[in-house]
Amino acid sequence: MLNKMISNILPYMPKKLVWQFSKEYIAGETIDDAIIAAKRLNGEGILTTIDVLGEFIKTLDEAETNKHEYLNVIESSVKSRVKGGFSLKPTSFGLLIDPDVCYRHIREIVAKAAEYDNFVRIDMEDSPCTDMEILLYRQLQSEFPKNVGLVVQAYLKRTLDDLKKINDINSSVPLNFRLCKGIYVEPAEIAYKDYEEVNTHYLLDLEYMFKNKMYAGIATHDRRLIDPILKLIDQYKVSKDMYEFQMLYGVTPALRGMLKEQGHRMRVYVPFGQQWFGYSTRRLKENPQMASTIIKAIFIKG
Ligand SMILES: Cc1cc2nc3c(=O)[nH]c(=O)nc-3n(C[C@H](O)[C@H](O)[C@H](O)COP(=O)(O)OP(=O)(O)OC[C@H]3O[C@@H](n4cnc5c(N)ncnc54)[C@H](O)[C@@H]3O)c2cc1C
Repeated sequence: MLNKMISNILPYMPKKLVWQFSKEYIAGETIDDAIIAAKRLNGEGILTTIDVLGEFIKTLDEAETNKHEYLNVIESSVKSRVKGGFSLKPTSFGLLIDPDVCYRHIREIVAKAAEYDNFVRIDMEDSPCTDMEILLYRQLQSEFPKNVGLVVQAYLKRTLDDLKKINDINSSVPLNFRLCKGIYVEPAEIAYKDYEEVNTHYLLDLEYMFKNKMYAGIATHDRRLIDPILKLIDQYKVSKDMYEFQMLYGVTPALRGMLKEQGHRMRVYVPFGQQWFGYSTRRLKENPQMASTIIKAIFIKG
Protein backbone atom coordinates (compact mmCIF):
# COMPACT_ATOMS: atom_id res chain seq x y z
CA MET A 1 0.00 0.00 0.00
CA LEU A 2 2.76 2.42 1.07
CA ASN A 3 4.87 1.35 -1.91
CA LYS A 4 1.98 2.04 -4.26
CA MET A 5 1.39 5.46 -2.70
CA ILE A 6 5.05 6.40 -3.06
CA SER A 7 5.17 5.25 -6.68
CA ASN A 8 2.10 7.37 -7.43
CA ILE A 9 3.49 10.56 -5.93
CA LEU A 10 7.03 10.13 -7.28
CA PRO A 11 6.30 11.73 -10.67
CA TYR A 12 5.32 14.92 -8.78
CA MET A 13 8.47 15.02 -6.66
CA PRO A 14 11.28 17.41 -7.62
CA LYS A 15 13.48 15.93 -10.36
CA LYS A 16 16.57 16.57 -8.25
CA LEU A 17 15.23 14.38 -5.49
CA VAL A 18 14.30 11.56 -7.84
CA TRP A 19 17.78 11.77 -9.36
CA GLN A 20 19.22 10.87 -5.94
CA PHE A 21 17.69 7.45 -6.40
CA SER A 22 17.97 7.18 -10.15
CA LYS A 23 21.68 7.97 -10.48
CA GLU A 24 22.53 4.57 -9.03
CA TYR A 25 20.72 2.91 -11.92
CA ILE A 26 21.28 5.32 -14.81
CA ALA A 27 24.66 6.26 -16.28
CA GLY A 28 23.72 9.92 -16.87
CA GLU A 29 22.11 12.17 -19.48
CA THR A 30 24.73 12.28 -22.23
CA ILE A 31 26.61 9.92 -24.54
CA ASP A 32 29.81 10.85 -22.72
CA ASP A 33 28.25 9.77 -19.41
CA ALA A 34 27.37 6.40 -20.93
CA ILE A 35 30.84 5.93 -22.41
CA ILE A 36 32.51 6.77 -19.09
CA ALA A 37 30.29 4.27 -17.25
CA ALA A 38 30.86 1.59 -19.89
CA LYS A 39 34.64 2.07 -19.88
CA ARG A 40 34.66 1.84 -16.08
CA LEU A 41 32.84 -1.49 -16.29
CA ASN A 42 35.15 -2.65 -19.10
CA GLY A 43 38.02 -1.87 -16.72
CA GLU A 44 36.55 -4.45 -14.34
CA GLY A 45 36.44 -7.01 -17.15
CA ILE A 46 32.71 -6.53 -17.74
CA LEU A 47 31.10 -6.11 -21.16
CA THR A 48 28.28 -3.63 -21.67
CA THR A 49 25.15 -3.06 -23.67
CA ILE A 50 24.28 0.64 -23.95
CA ASP A 51 20.65 1.74 -24.10
CA VAL A 52 19.32 5.19 -24.95
CA LEU A 53 16.34 5.80 -22.69
CA GLY A 54 12.99 6.45 -24.30
CA GLU A 55 10.08 4.30 -25.40
CA PHE A 56 6.46 4.54 -26.57
CA ILE A 57 6.97 7.68 -28.65
CA LYS A 58 4.05 9.73 -30.00
CA THR A 59 5.39 10.96 -33.37
CA LEU A 60 7.62 9.61 -36.11
CA ASP A 61 9.84 12.69 -35.78
CA GLU A 62 10.89 11.30 -32.42
CA ALA A 63 11.73 7.99 -34.11
CA GLU A 64 14.04 9.80 -36.52
CA THR A 65 15.75 11.65 -33.64
CA ASN A 66 16.17 8.41 -31.71
CA LYS A 67 17.74 6.70 -34.70
CA HIS A 68 20.33 9.47 -35.02
CA GLU A 69 21.02 9.26 -31.31
CA TYR A 70 21.76 5.53 -31.68
CA LEU A 71 23.95 6.06 -34.73
CA ASN A 72 25.93 8.62 -32.71
CA VAL A 73 26.20 6.29 -29.75
CA ILE A 74 27.56 3.53 -31.95
CA GLU A 75 30.14 5.85 -33.54
CA SER A 76 31.24 7.29 -30.17
CA SER A 77 31.38 3.93 -28.50
CA VAL A 78 33.47 2.41 -31.28
CA LYS A 79 35.78 5.44 -31.26
CA SER A 80 36.25 5.08 -27.51
CA ARG A 81 36.85 1.33 -27.89
CA VAL A 82 34.05 0.36 -25.53
CA LYS A 83 33.79 -3.40 -25.26
CA GLY A 84 30.11 -4.02 -25.75
CA GLY A 85 27.04 -3.60 -27.89
CA PHE A 86 23.70 -1.83 -27.82
CA SER A 87 20.13 -2.50 -26.70
CA LEU A 88 17.06 -0.77 -28.09
CA LYS A 89 13.32 -0.66 -27.64
CA PRO A 90 11.38 -0.83 -30.92
CA THR A 91 8.57 1.40 -29.62
CA SER A 92 11.06 4.26 -29.53
CA PHE A 93 11.34 3.90 -33.33
CA GLY A 94 7.61 3.92 -33.93
CA LEU A 95 6.71 0.21 -33.72
CA LEU A 96 3.18 1.07 -32.60
CA ILE A 97 2.77 3.91 -35.11
CA ASP A 98 4.24 2.50 -38.32
CA PRO A 99 6.05 -0.87 -38.15
CA ASP A 100 7.65 -0.38 -41.58
CA VAL A 101 9.23 2.91 -40.59
CA CYS A 102 10.34 1.28 -37.34
CA TYR A 103 11.90 -1.63 -39.25
CA ARG A 104 13.81 0.75 -41.54
CA HIS A 105 15.21 2.76 -38.62
CA ILE A 106 16.30 -0.29 -36.71
CA ARG A 107 17.74 -1.87 -39.84
CA GLU A 108 19.92 1.21 -40.30
CA ILE A 109 21.13 0.93 -36.71
CA VAL A 110 21.89 -2.79 -37.02
CA ALA A 111 23.67 -2.17 -40.33
CA LYS A 112 25.83 0.49 -38.65
CA ALA A 113 26.66 -1.92 -35.80
CA ALA A 114 27.44 -4.64 -38.35
CA GLU A 115 29.92 -2.32 -40.07
CA TYR A 116 31.94 -2.52 -36.85
CA ASP A 117 31.23 -6.19 -36.24
CA ASN A 118 29.09 -5.12 -33.29
CA PHE A 119 25.74 -6.26 -31.93
CA VAL A 120 22.25 -4.87 -31.30
CA ARG A 121 19.82 -6.49 -28.89
CA ILE A 122 16.12 -5.93 -29.47
CA ASP A 123 14.56 -5.52 -26.03
CA MET A 124 11.18 -7.16 -25.51
CA GLU A 125 8.42 -4.76 -24.49
CA ASP A 126 4.86 -5.42 -23.33
CA SER A 127 2.63 -8.10 -24.83
CA PRO A 128 0.98 -6.02 -27.61
CA CYS A 129 4.53 -5.79 -29.04
CA THR A 130 5.61 -9.44 -28.73
CA ASP A 131 4.61 -10.72 -32.19
CA MET A 132 5.88 -7.59 -33.91
CA GLU A 133 9.21 -7.75 -32.10
CA ILE A 134 9.70 -11.41 -32.98
CA LEU A 135 8.96 -10.57 -36.62
CA LEU A 136 11.43 -7.69 -36.51
CA TYR A 137 14.06 -10.08 -35.16
CA ARG A 138 13.34 -12.63 -37.90
CA GLN A 139 13.66 -9.98 -40.61
CA LEU A 140 16.91 -8.56 -39.27
CA GLN A 141 18.41 -11.91 -38.33
CA SER A 142 18.14 -13.15 -41.90
CA GLU A 143 20.17 -10.18 -43.11
CA PHE A 144 22.55 -9.73 -40.14
CA PRO A 145 22.80 -13.16 -38.47
CA LYS A 146 25.82 -12.22 -36.30
CA ASN A 147 24.71 -8.75 -35.33
CA VAL A 148 21.24 -8.97 -33.85
CA GLY A 149 19.54 -10.73 -30.96
CA LEU A 150 16.19 -10.73 -29.20
CA VAL A 151 14.93 -10.76 -25.61
CA VAL A 152 12.42 -13.33 -24.38
CA GLN A 153 10.45 -13.11 -21.13
CA ALA A 154 10.04 -16.14 -18.87
CA TYR A 155 6.80 -14.79 -17.34
CA LEU A 156 4.92 -15.06 -20.65
CA LYS A 157 3.17 -18.40 -21.02
CA ARG A 158 3.92 -18.39 -24.75
CA THR A 159 7.69 -18.08 -24.49
CA LEU A 160 8.75 -21.72 -24.75
CA ASP A 161 6.53 -22.12 -27.81
CA ASP A 162 7.98 -18.94 -29.27
CA LEU A 163 11.50 -20.32 -28.83
CA LYS A 164 10.47 -23.57 -30.53
CA LYS A 165 8.99 -21.65 -33.46
CA ILE A 166 11.94 -19.28 -33.79
CA ASN A 167 14.23 -22.29 -33.79
CA ASP A 168 13.07 -22.97 -37.36
CA ILE A 169 15.39 -20.16 -38.49
CA ASN A 170 18.12 -21.65 -40.60
CA SER A 171 21.10 -19.67 -39.32
CA SER A 172 24.82 -19.94 -39.98
CA VAL A 173 25.53 -18.81 -36.40
CA PRO A 174 23.77 -19.65 -33.10
CA LEU A 175 20.55 -17.73 -32.51
CA ASN A 176 21.15 -15.24 -29.72
CA PHE A 177 18.63 -14.54 -26.97
CA ARG A 178 18.56 -12.69 -23.71
CA LEU A 179 16.32 -14.46 -21.23
CA CYS A 180 14.75 -12.27 -18.55
CA LYS A 181 11.76 -12.67 -16.24
CA GLY A 182 9.87 -9.73 -17.79
CA ILE A 183 9.18 -6.30 -16.32
CA TYR A 184 5.75 -5.21 -17.58
CA VAL A 185 2.41 -5.77 -15.85
CA GLU A 186 0.63 -8.43 -17.89
CA PRO A 187 -2.78 -10.09 -17.39
CA ALA A 188 -2.84 -13.46 -15.63
CA GLU A 189 -4.31 -15.14 -18.72
CA ILE A 190 -1.05 -14.73 -20.56
CA ALA A 191 1.59 -14.39 -17.86
CA TYR A 192 2.72 -16.36 -14.82
CA LYS A 193 2.29 -14.26 -11.72
CA ASP A 194 3.71 -16.48 -9.05
CA TYR A 195 7.43 -16.04 -8.25
CA GLU A 196 8.14 -19.81 -8.16
CA GLU A 197 6.23 -20.37 -11.37
CA VAL A 198 8.18 -17.65 -13.20
CA ASN A 199 11.46 -19.13 -11.96
CA THR A 200 10.46 -22.65 -13.03
CA HIS A 201 9.72 -21.40 -16.53
CA TYR A 202 12.88 -19.34 -16.59
CA LEU A 203 14.84 -22.56 -16.09
CA LEU A 204 12.76 -24.49 -18.63
CA ASP A 205 13.35 -21.80 -21.26
CA LEU A 206 17.06 -21.71 -20.50
CA GLU A 207 17.29 -25.49 -20.71
CA TYR A 208 15.62 -25.36 -24.13
CA MET A 209 18.20 -22.80 -25.27
CA PHE A 210 21.10 -24.91 -24.07
CA LYS A 211 19.68 -28.11 -25.60
CA ASN A 212 19.24 -26.33 -28.93
CA LYS A 213 22.66 -24.66 -28.96
CA MET A 214 21.33 -21.13 -28.76
CA TYR A 215 23.52 -18.39 -27.27
CA ALA A 216 22.00 -17.40 -23.91
CA GLY A 217 22.22 -14.00 -22.30
CA ILE A 218 21.15 -14.98 -18.78
CA ALA A 219 19.65 -11.76 -17.42
CA THR A 220 18.83 -12.03 -13.75
CA HIS A 221 19.84 -10.73 -10.33
CA ASP A 222 17.93 -13.45 -8.52
CA ARG A 223 20.34 -15.29 -6.21
CA ARG A 224 17.92 -18.19 -5.95
CA LEU A 225 18.15 -18.80 -9.69
CA ILE A 226 21.93 -18.79 -9.85
CA ASP A 227 22.57 -22.30 -8.46
CA PRO A 228 20.08 -24.08 -10.73
CA ILE A 229 21.39 -22.06 -13.68
CA LEU A 230 24.97 -23.13 -12.93
CA LYS A 231 23.77 -26.74 -12.65
CA LEU A 232 22.18 -26.49 -16.12
CA ILE A 233 25.39 -25.06 -17.55
CA ASP A 234 27.23 -28.01 -16.05
CA GLN A 235 24.66 -30.59 -17.10
CA TYR A 236 24.68 -29.48 -20.75
CA LYS A 237 28.42 -28.77 -20.72
CA VAL A 238 27.74 -25.33 -22.17
CA SER A 239 31.03 -23.74 -23.19
CA LYS A 240 31.90 -20.32 -21.83
CA ASP A 241 31.50 -18.71 -25.24
CA MET A 242 27.87 -19.86 -25.53
CA TYR A 243 26.38 -17.93 -22.63
CA GLU A 244 26.85 -14.86 -20.51
CA PHE A 245 25.25 -13.39 -17.42
CA GLN A 246 23.64 -9.98 -17.75
CA MET A 247 22.65 -7.48 -15.08
CA LEU A 248 21.28 -3.96 -14.93
CA TYR A 249 23.56 -1.02 -14.17
CA GLY A 250 23.85 -0.52 -10.42
CA VAL A 251 21.91 -3.65 -9.44
CA THR A 252 23.45 -6.37 -7.22
CA PRO A 253 27.11 -5.50 -7.88
CA ALA A 254 28.27 -8.09 -5.32
CA LEU A 255 26.54 -10.95 -7.16
CA ARG A 256 27.89 -9.60 -10.43
CA GLY A 257 31.43 -9.59 -9.02
CA MET A 258 31.07 -13.10 -7.68
CA LEU A 259 29.97 -14.56 -11.01
CA LYS A 260 32.66 -12.65 -12.83
CA GLU A 261 35.31 -13.97 -10.40
CA GLN A 262 34.09 -17.50 -11.10
CA GLY A 263 35.02 -16.93 -14.74
CA HIS A 264 31.59 -16.39 -16.31
CA ARG A 265 31.25 -13.76 -19.02
CA MET A 266 29.32 -10.78 -17.59
CA ARG A 267 27.54 -7.93 -19.35
CA VAL A 268 25.89 -4.86 -17.81
CA TYR A 269 22.97 -2.97 -19.34
CA VAL A 270 23.90 0.73 -19.27
CA PRO A 271 20.88 3.03 -19.74
CA PHE A 272 21.40 6.75 -20.25
CA GLY A 273 19.61 9.76 -21.72
CA GLN A 274 17.50 12.85 -21.23
CA GLN A 275 14.48 10.71 -20.56
CA TRP A 276 15.73 9.17 -17.32
CA PHE A 277 12.95 10.80 -15.26
CA GLY A 278 10.11 9.22 -17.22
CA TYR A 279 11.95 5.91 -17.30
CA SER A 280 12.49 5.85 -13.53
CA THR A 281 8.95 6.81 -12.63
CA ARG A 282 7.40 4.43 -15.18
CA ARG A 283 9.52 1.54 -13.94
CA LEU A 284 8.40 2.33 -10.46
CA LYS A 285 4.73 2.34 -11.34
CA GLU A 286 5.23 -1.06 -12.92
CA ASN A 287 7.06 -2.37 -9.91
CA PRO A 288 5.90 -0.52 -6.77
CA GLN A 289 7.90 -2.91 -4.54
CA MET A 290 10.93 -0.86 -5.58
CA ALA A 291 9.54 2.14 -3.71
CA SER A 292 10.99 1.10 -0.38
CA THR A 293 14.42 0.79 -2.00
CA ILE A 294 14.01 4.32 -3.28
CA ILE A 295 12.99 5.70 0.07
CA LYS A 296 16.05 4.08 1.62
CA ALA A 297 18.26 5.52 -1.13
CA ILE A 298 16.85 9.02 -0.74
CA PHE A 299 16.36 9.32 2.99
CA ILE A 300 18.80 6.88 4.56
CA LYS A 301 21.83 7.00 2.27
CA GLY A 302 21.23 10.76 1.96
C1 LIG B 1 20.34 -7.01 -18.75
C2 LIG B 1 18.85 -6.98 -18.55
C3 LIG B 1 18.03 -6.65 -19.60
C4 LIG B 1 16.63 -6.68 -19.46
N1 LIG B 1 15.83 -6.47 -20.53
C5 LIG B 1 14.50 -6.62 -20.41
C6 LIG B 1 13.65 -6.58 -21.54
O1 LIG B 1 14.06 -6.41 -22.67
N2 LIG B 1 12.30 -6.73 -21.34
C7 LIG B 1 11.78 -6.94 -20.09
O2 LIG B 1 10.57 -7.11 -19.97
N3 LIG B 1 12.58 -6.97 -19.00
C8 LIG B 1 13.91 -6.82 -19.12
N4 LIG B 1 14.71 -6.90 -18.02
C9 LIG B 1 14.10 -6.87 -16.67
C10 LIG B 1 13.75 -8.25 -16.19
O3 LIG B 1 12.67 -8.74 -16.95
C11 LIG B 1 13.34 -8.25 -14.71
O4 LIG B 1 12.24 -7.44 -14.51
C12 LIG B 1 14.42 -7.79 -13.76
O5 LIG B 1 15.69 -8.21 -14.18
C13 LIG B 1 14.19 -8.37 -12.36
O6 LIG B 1 14.18 -9.76 -12.41
P1 LIG B 1 15.28 -10.67 -11.72
O7 LIG B 1 15.52 -11.85 -12.60
O8 LIG B 1 16.48 -9.88 -11.40
O9 LIG B 1 14.59 -11.28 -10.44
P2 LIG B 1 13.75 -10.62 -9.28
O10 LIG B 1 13.25 -11.78 -8.48
O11 LIG B 1 12.74 -9.66 -9.79
O12 LIG B 1 14.82 -9.81 -8.49
C14 LIG B 1 15.83 -10.44 -7.72
C15 LIG B 1 16.49 -9.36 -6.89
O13 LIG B 1 17.24 -8.50 -7.74
C16 LIG B 1 17.17 -7.16 -7.30
N5 LIG B 1 16.61 -6.34 -8.38
C17 LIG B 1 16.05 -6.79 -9.50
N6 LIG B 1 15.71 -5.76 -10.33
C18 LIG B 1 16.08 -4.63 -9.70
C19 LIG B 1 16.02 -3.26 -10.03
N7 LIG B 1 15.53 -2.81 -11.21
N8 LIG B 1 16.49 -2.37 -9.12
C20 LIG B 1 17.01 -2.78 -7.95
N9 LIG B 1 17.10 -4.08 -7.58
C21 LIG B 1 16.64 -4.99 -8.44
C22 LIG B 1 16.35 -7.16 -6.05
O14 LIG B 1 17.25 -7.27 -4.97
C23 LIG B 1 15.54 -8.42 -6.17
O15 LIG B 1 15.18 -8.93 -4.94
C24 LIG B 1 16.09 -6.94 -18.15
C25 LIG B 1 16.93 -7.26 -17.10
C26 LIG B 1 18.29 -7.31 -17.28
C27 LIG B 1 19.14 -7.72 -16.13
